[in-house]
Parts: sequence; structure tokens; C-alpha cells
Amino acid sequence: MLLSMKFVEPIERTLNSKFKFRCHKGISCFNRCCRNADILLTPYDVVRMKKRLGISSEEFLEKYAYVHIDEKSSHPYALLKMTDNDEKKCPFVTPEGCGVYEDRPVNCRNYPVGQGLMIKGTEDRKVKEGFYFFIKEPNCLGCGEDNEWTIEQWRIDQGSDLYDEMNREWKEIQLRRDALGQPKLDPKKQSMLYMASYDLDRFRRFIFESRFLDSFEIAKEEIEKIKSDEIELMKFGFKYQKYILMMEETLKVKEAQL
Ligand code: SF4
Ligand code: SF4
Repeated sequence: MLLSMKFVEPIERTLNSKFKFRCHKGISCFNRCCRNADILLTPYDVVRMKKRLGISSEEFLEKYAYVHIDEKSSHPYALLKMTDNDEKKCPFVTPEGCGVYEDRPVNCRNYPVGQGLMIKGTEDRKVKEGFYFFIKEPNCLGCGEDNEWTIEQWRIDQGSDLYDEMNREWKEIQLRRDALGQPKLDPKKQSMLYMASYDLDRFRRFIFESRFLDSFEIAKEEIEKIKSDEIELMKFGFKYQKYILMMEETLKVKEAQL
């Protein structure tokens, strides 16, 4: 979740750091955190949730997300849209808890553990999941329960590694932009980045139903992969984002187009 920094403990933790936490139906704050929350979505969150709901990425984003433009970097992000009434509930919360539990967004999974990221190495410039921190929201009573975890045990229990693996390259793009202090994005670039991050059904049409493949040299095997495999399409989206942000020459323009 995009939580206010005032709830973030200013102490760096490691995978061995211990904490107590249990979230369950009998706790008096049950479901309280699933309303009026700023929950940042990642590309892999959208892949999982739209598949679970059996809808397109366009329908998912239209119904369940809104665009947030980061003030500093001007990068576009999708956030989960709360219901438009006084309750401001997450559209997926039910009296039994999360209605999309197995496919819930990574920020819901990791809570109350937050993750700090950094780029290491000047050559590969890869994201390393650098450190962790605890989020201590006063309204969350789970920290008063007796179940003890290390951060590593918590992450295994929540399936966090798979989400990190899937989103790593996308996070790297955000961090590199922040580190480079790049110029503000214009609305056209923001819209392309949003599409290539989150709206994969539209991105697929953009690749296969426009002049895209006439413009770029892309190996046949890669074309086949992105046509049939959504994860490959998502990864190609990361490549495309690096290209349009001029971070790396991840795509090659066909000679006839030059
Ligand atoms: S997705 Fe699930 S866990 Fe996350 S806020 Fe909504 S109901 Fe709660
Ligand atoms: S214990 Fe915390 S995470 Fe669980 S329902 Fe209560 S507020 Fe939400």
C-alpha cells in the first residue's frame, strides 16, 4: 500500500528481523485496512487480477483502478479505486475478508512489511531488494497478536518472491528515472508507459494491429512468445518502456524506417 510515511518505522530491517503479527477474522479491526487505502498496483498484480476476474486489462483498469501521476518523476501509476461513497471500501473486500485473496496485490500481501529498493552496480544496474522496514499503523491490531515471524518467513508465506521477480525490471525503470533526475514526461509518453505497464490487452493490439512490427526488428521467436504468453508480453512491455525513455536501445528500428 502507499502508506503515509508517518506509519513507517525509520529502521532498516533484514530478512532475519523478527516481528509479531496475525490477521484473522476474529480481530476487531478485521477489514478496516481494506478501505480508504492508497494501493499501488504493479504490472504483475494486474495480470493476476484480471485473469482471476476473467476480464480484459482495459475493463479491469476502467472499473478498478485510477491513474496517479507521481509529482516528482511524472511517471504514471495505477492505484486501486475505492468505492465512490462514504465507505470508500476496496471493491474486493467481503465480510469474509479479501475476495481475491490468492491474487491480491503485492502491497496487500507484504503488509506490515515494506521494502526499500536500490540499484547496485554501475554495469548491470539491476535492482536489489535492499532492505525492509515495518509499517506500524495505529488502527491495525495485528501487531499485538502472538504469532512471531522473521521477514523471510513472512515473505515465503505471502508468496512475495514471485511478485518481486515478475516486477523487478519494472521497478528498475522507476528507480533509474529517479536516480537520473530525468525531465518530466509529456502526456503521450505517460499514456504509452501506462499502456505498456498495465494495459497489456491494448498493448498487444498496439503491437499486432499497428505498424509496430514494420518499424522494429524483432525476432520471429520473440513475436511468437509475446503473442501467446502474457508474461512474455509484460516483459516485452518493460523493454519497450526502456526504449521510449531512452534508457537503453532495447529495440532496433528497421533500416527501411531510418
Ligand atoms: S485487494 Fe484484498 S487485501 Fe487488498 S485492499 Fe482489497 S480486499 Fe483488502
Ligand atoms: S490486523 Fe491489520 S491487516 Fe489485519 S484486518 Fe486488522 S488492520 Fe487489516
